[in-house]
Amino acid sequence: MELVFASNNKNKIQEIQSMLPESIKILSLSDIGCHEEIPETANTIEGNAILKANYVTQKYGYNCFADDTGLEVETLNGQPGVFSARYAGEQRNDNDNMTKLLFELENETNRKAQFKTVICLNINGEQYLFTGIIKGNITNERFGNQGFGYDPIFQPEGYQHTFAQISLNEKANISHRGIATRQLIAFFEN
Ligand code: IMP
Repeated sequence: MELVFASNNKNKIQEIQSMLPESIKILSLSDIGCHEEIPETANTIEGNAILKANYVTQKYGYNCFADDTGLEVETLNGQPGVFSARYAGEQRNDNDNMTKLLFELENETNRKAQFKTVICLNINGEQYLFTGIIKGNITNERFGNQGFGYDPIFQPEGYQHTFAQISLNEKANISHRGIATRQLIAFFEN
């Protein structure tokens, strides 16, 4: 079966292809000739995952899944959330985003936050949502240089290190995206 992953991120595509049963062939957006920017105009993480998956299924007719992720900070009422990528502006710069978040939390003692990934799967006329959440805290400064995004300032609950200080494997075992992805894989294995 062919299944589109509404992404052009080669790393993400390879990673998920290697985890799925061999009978499922993952196609990227460029594999199906979709070169336009898919609108991400919803105001929730779930909404954006659904928008992206529906765009591909409705316009191209494929079974498809799409993911969307955000960092929700408790004392900021869940912000930046769906706006995580463009928190500090349309340049979508990881470093600028971290600088802004550290500034917003400068004198804040409640530093609780969580990463949330939602995967929306459209398959044979049905829609399924898989959600992965990891709770943690925003550190006072950057630690580590692995990973991407907000990794240097996110310390998962029960850990002494940020996501940017642990290996990719370790991160995948506990991360929001890892949890949601394993639910998607379990769906296909059952
Ligand atoms: P996306 O939905 O995967 O594009 O993620 C939205 C934004 O959330 C990205 O621009 C990153 O800044 C942030 N983000 C997503 N996943 C992670 C992660 O695993 N670690 C740190 N930041 C992340």
